[in-house]
Amino acid sequence: MRILVIEDEAALADALEEILKQNNYMVDVVYRGPDGLDYASSGIYDLILLDIMLPGMDGLTILKTLRQRQISTPVILLTAKSEVSDIITGLDAGNDDYLAKPFSTGELLARIRALSRRSNNYTGELLTFEDLTLNRGTMELSCHNDTIRLGLKEVQIMELFLKNPRQIMSKDLLLEKVWGIDSNAEYNNIEVYISFLRQKLSSLGTAAQIRTIRGVGYQLEI
Ligand code: CA
Repeated sequence: MRILVIEDEAALADALEEILKQNNYMVDVVYRGPDGLDYASSGIYDLILLDIMLPGMDGLTILKTLRQRQISTPVILLTAKSEVSDIITGLDAGNDDYLAKPFSTGELLARIRALSRRSNNYTGELLTFEDLTLNRGTMELSCHNDTIRLGLKEVQIMELFLKNPRQIMSKDLLLEKVWGIDSNAEYNNIEVYISFLRQKLSSLGTAAQIRTIRGVGYQLEI
């Protein structure tokens, strides 16, 4: 799951990045409103943490513009307590939420989990496909009674496959979602990780396999 943080208070932005990474989320941070809108408009994020008072463009304008662009990524607005009543009207109750500053780490993580559950059939820590189960909390992939530990990138790639079973995942999409839009990673990086994952799938003895679709990408199938 990839989260975009748009927050101009550097100390808070950095703390958020740290906390989210420790909890196995992929994180991009931007400090200015217009940059925030650009990043968010890419549509690659699963969730956006959005400050209200930002240089260049305020958070509510960013949120409104995203919705006009048909970007439906769930947003958690980060707001001062005094602003809460003003922003509630701007929220889509099903898709967005807010958090009044200062908030605790526990509160933040609980909101993120709740919002992602509501928005994409999120099933908690476990994702399954046929005989495979990925536990994102422990980073373990299991098949029947066998379990194998994955690296962080491997978890992120498997997560995409398990959320989109039998769909072709292009190499560009994998690069964007796992490495991020600013990364210098190349197709070669993906190929290396896909080959690690294939070895692990094969050692687990699962019926699931990652098929190469030539010139396009990969597909998880039976
Ligand atoms: Ca601010």
